[in-house]
Amino acid sequence: RKSIVAVVGRPNVGKSTLFNALAGEMISIVKDTPGITRDRIYADVTWLDRAFTLIDTGGIEPDSSDIILSQMREQAQIAIDTADVILFMVDVKQGLVDSDSKVADMLRRSHKPVVLVVNKVDDFDKFMPDVYEFYNLGIGDPHPISAANRMGLGDLLDEVISHF
Ligand code: GDP
Ligand code: MG
Repeated sequence: RKSIVAVVGRPNVGKSTLFNALAGEMISIVKDTPGITRDRIYADVTWLDRAFTLIDTGGIEPDSSDIILSQMREQAQIAIDTADVILFMVDVKQGLVDSDSKVADMLRRSHKPVVLVVNKVDDFDKFMPDVYEFYNLGIGDPHPISAANRMGLGDLLDEVISHF
């Protein structure tokens, strides 16, 4: 069967923006209006000669950090149960947040392949020092991207398909 790749991470880190950039169409709704990405959304992606199904995750718009964390855990558990590779996305502009560390622990314990994606690195030279902070999550090398500017996506996809 086709490999499954799921994107998980806090609200507003840019999961749907990445999904749309890779899916090549406006399929998943990027947040400008609250209450987005109610359900998981699927796209077929091909990179080099490898095809996989990409899953965007979201949920109801959370209004407290408790809800954010429980929603992230739920997303992560679904990804652990269904995906072959998990993209764990964090936001360089927000830095390392406590809920990121908690979900990273959960993903690490699952022993699934996890690719740590650091989004909103709109200027690689300027923000690289901030990217290194995410080594502290203990789930491997951070992969800087700018989903909005479609930077770093080739290297990211190379890394993803290396796990199939
Ligand atoms: P999601 O909740 O994780 O799905 O996040 P969205 O994809 O809906 O994006 C949340 C916000 O972050 C939107 O305003 C996006 O335009 C913005 N965003 C996404 N990717 C980038 C990026 O690479 N750089 C910057 N500066 N903003 C981004
Ligand atoms: Mg979304």
